Amino acid sequence: MKNLKRFWRRIAAVVLEWLYPDRVLCVCCERALGEEQEDGLCPDCVRALQRLELEKSTQREALPEGIDYVQWAYPYTAQARSLILWMKFSSVREAAVPLARAMAMLPGGEEELMVPVPTTKRRLRERGFNQAELLCALVAQQLGMPMANALTRRDEQRPQAMLREKQRRKNLAGCMTASPLVRGKRVLLVDDVYTTGSTAAEAARALLAAGARSVGVFTAARTEFDGQDAPP
Ligand SMILES: [Zn+2]
Repeated sequence: MKNLKRFWRRIAAVVLEWLYPDRVLCVCCERALGEEQEDGLCPDCVRALQRLELEKSTQREALPEGIDYVQWAYPYTAQARSLILWMKFSSVREAAVPLARAMAMLPGGEEELMVPVPTTKRRLRERGFNQAELLCALVAQQLGMPMANALTRRDEQRPQAMLREKQRRKNLAGCMTASPLVRGKRVLLVDDVYTTGSTAAEAARALLAAGARSVGVFTAARTEFDGQDAPP
């Protein structure tokens, strides 16, 4: 039902865009935007995201080995979740702009190089782009920091979304490799969603093995509620 609603909204949006090419729609809820807008968002979505930012929890459990800190802009729910889904599965790249803006405001450490979590070649073919790389590029631009695609990733045996935490870790073990570019650097790792931390842990392992001095993590959102579905 929800999917059907989304489908018709999308059709309506495409028709509107075709009828009125200058008419701009909110990247989150697809309502027509008036004069008042910020990063392609309508005022309602801007306010909703501000509320979400205030509602997010703080770090509760121990961090995976090798990671100094994790900062995330939003809980993975409501409008923040919509933006990520638009970006990831409908290739609405504009949805990355408000997410990156919020990420650039996060308190960081003294990192010297930003590195996106890599995607596999298969997924890159499917989606046409890596959403973590897109976020990383936008945040790096805003912070005036250098970035490098210093990690590569081979296909894991099974899709992560199907697995529980322990299995996720096992499934990912050894699937990433970092380039010598990171040697001696404090690295700020960037991803779209932080769920169990297994992806970030595998990336940190590869970065540290290649000689990185430390690894901090920025993500657009984090799953925070028990029983919440992990993002695919
Ligand atoms: Zn909106």
